[in-house]
Amino acid sequence: RITPPPATTPALVCAQPSASSWNESIATESEEGYVVDSKKGNAYFKGHLLGKGGFAKVYLITDITTRKQYACKIIPKHQIVQKIHKQKIIREIMIHKQLNHVNVVQMHHYFEDSLNVYMLLEACPKKSLVHVLKYRGKVTEPEARYYMKQLVDGVSYIHSRKIIHRDLKPGNMFLSERMIVKIGDFGLATQPDGQRRVTICGTPNFIAPEVLFKQSYSYEADVWALGCNLYTLLVGQPPFDSATLKETYSRICNHRYRELDDTIATRAGQDLVRWLLQPNPQLRPSLELVKQHPYLSQEYSPSSLPDSCCYTSPRLP
Ligand code: ADP
Repeated sequence: RITPPPATTPALVCAQPSASSWNESIATESEEGYVVDSKKGNAYFKGHLLGKGGFAKVYLITDITTRKQYACKIIPKHQIVQKIHKQKIIREIMIHKQLNHVNVVQMHHYFEDSLNVYMLLEACPKKSLVHVLKYRGKVTEPEARYYMKQLVDGVSYIHSRKIIHRDLKPGNMFLSERMIVKIGDFGLATQPDGQRRVTICGTPNFIAPEVLFKQSYSYEADVWALGCNLYTLLVGQPPFDSATLKETYSRICNHRYRELDDTIATRAGQDLVRWLLQPNPQLRPSLELVKQHPYLSQEYSPSSLPDSCCYTSPRLP
């Protein structure tokens, strides 16, 4: 039995951001519920709260001229006291703003005022896969294939831009009005410059063994997390889930999880999950091979899903 490293919350050690400031534009968040980007001359009506993160609150906002809606991530500056936190936010912006893909939440713009930093994001009104799982428990195999195909496309694109996401979990898989999957939250993402990383980083349940063992790791850690996501969609619980972080880490290090069986997934599904959750990162499939795997390329997957799937099983052939 292998003893995992101490069960501390993974520490964030951030690479130097490539810009020294996030000052793209100047904003004013007024008391009356408006956000004003004074440099660009745009004003937005601040609507309801969409969600809360570590430092951030995310609101639905509407451009008062174009009537276009966005999700606005607002980070109060008084919470960004440590240099490392500021660097983390700058890094998130620098990475996220480069990305443009149908399966990635679009960052339209960012700005700041004396109080806050604002990130203007594509609004995802159907929330996230964590909400789907909350209501549904788990999803059907055709739905899992539908979500997974889009996740693989999104992550392939992110990797093609030389970025490792490092926090691929259902809570970061957002859903558009038309139920298109959009990968978001680049707060832990990194652009490794060809070097392999050693920083422990990620969400405990979906953290790859090589990250826990403090070995160098790379894009394969995201492939592992995709396996954890597919498993969670099909089973309703993450593969290495347990009551304590220490036990979860121990299960990951010892590769102890309940494999899928015929009651949960087809043989192809079982095979794909096993492959994605290979403890040896070198033996995990490339995302090109994942796309071609029979589970995603041959077995039935709907081309679209109704938004009722957020709450109830769809009637599928
Ligand atoms: P943090 O990085 O601080 O964890 P997140 O980016 O995860 O913050 O956002 C916090 C919450 O805000 C999310 O869990 C979600 O509920 C909501 N949210 C974030 N981005 C969007 C978006 N683009 N559309 C809709 N809701 C969002």
